[in-house]
This record gives sequence, structure tokens and C-alpha cells, in this order.
Amino acid sequence: MPLDKADDNARMPYQLPMPRECLPEIVVPDAIPEDERLWVPQAENVWFRPLCLNVSQGYWMNLLRVRKAGVLSRHRHPNAVHGFVLKGRWHYLEHDWVAEEGAYVYEPPGETHTLVVPDDVEEMITFFQVNGIMYYVDPWGKPLGYEDVFTKIDMCRKHYTERGLGEDYVDRLIR
Ligand code: FE
Repeated sequence: MPLDKADDNARMPYQLPMPRECLPEIVVPDAIPEDERLWVPQAENVWFRPLCLNVSQGYWMNLLRVRKAGVLSRHRHPNAVHGFVLKGRWHYLEHDWVAEEGAYVYEPPGETHTLVVPDDVEEMITFFQVNGIMYYVDPWGKPLGYEDVFTKIDMCRKHYTERGLGEDYVDRLIR
């Protein structure tokens, strides 16, 4: 909506309280962390770094890191996924395009795909918003398992406990 009145106090902060039910904001200064312990292992040569684990709407924001020869298992999305490639390059076995550094990717509901990082890429990092679940399947669609925001939180708790950060560490990223 365009402004229909001039704001005479353009630099004055909002003067009222936030709505009572409004949750606290999240700020993660080290989104790509120096501290290796913040990367949660997911498979061989695959890690994720959680940024926002949204339990009330059922989605999660995370960085996916894949190093040489890593593969993100074949999965189906019932909901849309948004991705932004921060580093490296990857492609899906099911498509002929390549997601290069700087690319934005939209994965529509109904997509099933297998993410592969080529051998000449040492490391790939992509920022993904995943809604709902990742539904893992065999090549003919037979279910092999799933992940949702709750299983991601469980993985974080377990890993952060093992690495000495404490099982509460992940709480700061949950809304
Ligand atoms: Fe996907």
C-alpha cells in the first residue's frame, strides 16, 4: 500500500509495543559459522547449519553444506522449497540445469529429486527454506523415511549435546 500521508518523523522508531503474541526475532551473526561444531552431520559429507526452526508453521531455514562426493538422498517435497546458492555448484539427477553460486532455486510441491555435488567442487553451501517435510523415497517412490522440523531439532539437540554446546543450544533458533 502506498503511503497516503507524508511521514513527518521518518527517523523516529515505532513508539508502541509489539503485539503481545509476537515472538522474539532471531539474529544469527555467524550464520556461516567459524565454530565447526554448529554444523550438524546429516549423511556422509553432508551437514546442515540450522538458522530458524519454525515449529508453529512447520518449516526450517538452514544452510546445507556438501563436500566432495556428497549426495543428498532422493526425496519428494509436498510443499515448496526456496534455495539460494552461497558457494559451489550442484545439480539434480532429475534435471539438466545446474545451480551455480549466486543462483536462486524454487522447488515446486510434487518434485522428487536427488542433489549431487560434482567432483570438481570442494564445497557447496546453499541456504534452503524447507516447508513441511522431506519425504525420502527409492527410485520408484517407495517411502524410506522423512524429516520435518521436529526431527531436525532432535538431530541438533543430540549433536550439540555430544559436542559440548548443550541440548538447550538449539532453543535460540526455535519459534
Ligand atoms: Fe529438495
